[in-house]
Amino acid sequence: MKAGTQRLVELDRRHLWHPFTQMKEWQKSTPLIIERGRGNWLVDTEGRRFLDGISSLWVTVHGHGKKELDRAIRAQLRRIAHSTLLGLGNVPSIELAERLVTIAPGGLKRVFFSDDGSTAVEIALKIAFQYQEQTNKRNKKRKFLAFTGAYHGDTFGAMSVGEIDVFVRKYRPLLFDVIHSPYPYCYRCPVEAGNKYPDCKTACLDVLEGILKKHSGELAACVIEPLVQGAAGMVTSPPGFLKGVRRLTKKYDVLLIADEVATGFGRTGAMFACDAEGVGPDILCLAKGLTGGYMPLAATLTTEKIYRAFLGNYDEYRAFFHGHTYTGNPLGCAAALANIEIFEKEKVLEKLKAKIKLLKDLMKILEGLEHVGDIRQRGLMAGIELVEDRPTKKPYPARLRVGHRVCMEARSRGLIIRPLGDTVVIMPPLSIKEKELKKIVKIVKDCIEKTTT
Ligand code: PLP
Repeated sequence: MKAGTQRLVELDRRHLWHPFTQMKEWQKSTPLIIERGRGNWLVDTEGRRFLDGISSLWVTVHGHGKKELDRAIRAQLRRIAHSTLLGLGNVPSIELAERLVTIAPGGLKRVFFSDDGSTAVEIALKIAFQYQEQTNKRNKKRKFLAFTGAYHGDTFGAMSVGEIDVFVRKYRPLLFDVIHSPYPYCYRCPVEAGNKYPDCKTACLDVLEGILKKHSGELAACVIEPLVQGAAGMVTSPPGFLKGVRRLTKKYDVLLIADEVATGFGRTGAMFACDAEGVGPDILCLAKGLTGGYMPLAATLTTEKIYRAFLGNYDEYRAFFHGHTYTGNPLGCAAALANIEIFEKEKVLEKLKAKIKLLKDLMKILEGLEHVGDIRQRGLMAGIELVEDRPTKKPYPARLRVGHRVCMEARSRGLIIRPLGDTVVIMPPLSIKEKELKKIVKIVKDCIEKTTT
């Protein structure tokens, strides 16, 4: 190991606290430290190259070192790095709000900026809640409806609407009550074991309707990860489910919050997952890919109707009392503007179709593996669920950390991926090349085989 790397490893062990990490284990490991990136590749401090198979945690869109993004940030830097939106405007945030409203799924007209996915969701929940307080004087619409397996971030509101037990268990006494409806995790149907789509006739929508019938009078909003629940293990919903959720939330007059933090910006094949089913939510949360994966920036979009409920005289205190120091950061907004421009100039979504099909075809070689239980894919988001026993779908004991071991093996072969439990995730940048995709799937196959047999 180079002396420079050794020094960084020691300092990291001494001072850093890594997210979602058992630090006792980390202290004993030799961390891989990324120094550079170019295209779909990462380079560590030892000069080793790795394919970025998870888009640096689902953010990188057009690759690393994309010259248009670099240039846009440099140009903005020559003007100003940061200026506040509290009491002032700034140029790129205004331009970006206009662009976002133009490309967002139907009817969204207002943009509230923040810094990351969790804050985008937190803001959506607060806006929905306050909207109901200010418009529904008789009915108290104060509860939220979320889906089983949901993940919306790590702040308290976002955790409350989340449902992945290990992430929220310790904080439960501090979380607010949420009503949960089953998300169509069709491999392990949460409505009835053994149900199969389409024979089930999307029974999860019937459950949702039952809940809405009973609780709509007390519901401020329903929050969903459209088409794909990412952190649940790339759980893809069957065609029509999202549209059904929109139809029912409209029927029962419940606001729909679409959390497109993970699915936004082309990941599912459409610019936004909502576009794929022609759905217009009342509130939309964006982050991750918004800046092409360059800067921490998030946006919560709402309809004009919601926005108007916050208007009034100063002393009526109807304003939205929320804001973060870096809200509308000009560097982030400049990157986001360049990101959207690349989508248009390079016809990214059109070119994506062939890559999505290629990934689907390539993953067929995984179907025959003894411990591959389910392969799920939507766009360039894919999850391979590993099980101990395929006929019974029996999961591996958690302590075996099979998913983690597959990903560590992949790392030793030049591929960075990260599992969600025992689901191995493939989520490369949209700029991934054909031969890189082939390499990714080949490594994943070899590593699954090596780890599970
Ligand atoms: N919402 C969804 C659907 C996500 O997948 C994530 C993160 O993975 C978040 C919210 C939280 O985003 P962040 O980690 O930027 O706070």
